[in-house]
Amino acid sequence: MDFKPYIRVIPDFPQPGIRFKDITTLLKDGAAYRAVIDQLVERYKDEKIDLIAGPEARGFVIGAPLAYALGVGFVPIRKSGKLPGETIESSYDLEYGKDKLSMHRDAITPGQNVLIADDLLATGGTIRTTIDLVRQLGGNVVGAAFLIELTYLNGRDKLEGIEVTSLVKY
Ligand code: 5GP
Repeated sequence: MDFKPYIRVIPDFPQPGIRFKDITTLLKDGAAYRAVIDQLVERYKDEKIDLIAGPEARGFVIGAPLAYALGVGFVPIRKSGKLPGETIESSYDLEYGKDKLSMHRDAITPGQNVLIADDLLATGGTIRTTIDLVRQLGGNVVGAAFLIELTYLNGRDKLEGIEVTSLVKY
C-alpha cells in the first residue's frame, strides 16, 4: 500500500520553512492505519523482541499497536516531568527546538531486546536520545521502526549500526 496519499503536508508548521508531515489524515483511515501496523508486524514478527519503546506522543500511536500485535510489552518515553516513578532523563535537539525525554528507571531489565518506534525520523535527535536512555538501563536496541523517514535530514547517520525500517520516504 502506498501511504503517501494519506499523509498531509502542511507548510510552515510549527515554524516557517518546515513542511510538517501530518499523519492524522492517515490515522483516521482504518484500513490505512491497520496496513501500517501490519507491514511493521510482517517486518518484525520473526525478530527476538522483548519490548517496544516509543516517545510521546506519536511514538505511542505506532509503538503500542505494534507491541500488541507482536505480543510484547510497551515502554512509554515521555517529556520530562510526566512520569510518576523514579526516572532517568536525557536532553536533545529537535528539527525545531530542544527537549528533554525521560523513562522509568525500572522500565527495562538489562539484556532485554528493545525495538524503538516512532512516527517519523527527521534529524534523528529524538531517536538518538531514546537509544541512549534504553542503553543506560542495559537494554539491547535491536532496531528502529518508523512510518516516515525524511531522508534529506540524514537522521540515519546518528543511529550508526542500528537497523532502521521506514515505510514512507521523503
Ligand atoms: P527528530 O528528532 O528526528 O529531528 O524529529 C523527529 C520527532 O519530531 C518525532 O518524534 C516526530 O514525531 C516529530 N516530528 C518532526 N517533524 C515532524 C513532521 O514533519 N511530522 C510529524 N508527524 N512529526 C514530526
